[in-house]
Amino acid sequence: MADTIFSKIIRGEIPCHKVYEDAQVLAFLDIGPISRGHTLVIPKEAAPTLDQLSEEAGAALGRALPTIAQAVVKATGARAFNVLQNNGPEAHQAVFHVHFHIIPKYEDGSGLGIGWKAGKLDAPHGAALAREILAQF
Ligand code: 5GP
Repeated sequence: MADTIFSKIIRGEIPCHKVYEDAQVLAFLDIGPISRGHTLVIPKEAAPTLDQLSEEAGAALGRALPTIAQAVVKATGARAFNVLQNNGPEAHQAVFHVHFHIIPKYEDGSGLGIGWKAGKLDAPHGAALAREILAQF
């Protein structure tokens, strides 16, 4: 895949405000934070979207995310936070190297705003769709 700005950060060619690092994962402050403490958590493995990431890198991310979130919450004093993970330009992905956003939400309302227009899942369509997804494994 094409080199991205995050690969350059991993290689140390571009600076970042690092908050966590292990053999497979790096976390650093977002350069355009939507709230104080907005942090990006990335695998060192370069994959553009989550569905293309190896199980090993995904497992390493899963291991690291709770403790990084805990550190961000403790350091910022935020009582709530969102974890956001965009895949594809239509889903607002701008950097094509997998990343999780940890975005503290504050009492003044700063943080992630979500437009969530809930529909209604009817039983026959739900059953058919679940079967379709199950068949992919
Ligand atoms: P996306 O929309 O792809 O989910 O989010 C990409 C994020 O990467 C954005 O929030 C943006 O501010 C952040 N970002 C882009 N370039 C850099 C950079 O060079 N350094 C840091 N720290 N963050 C970046």
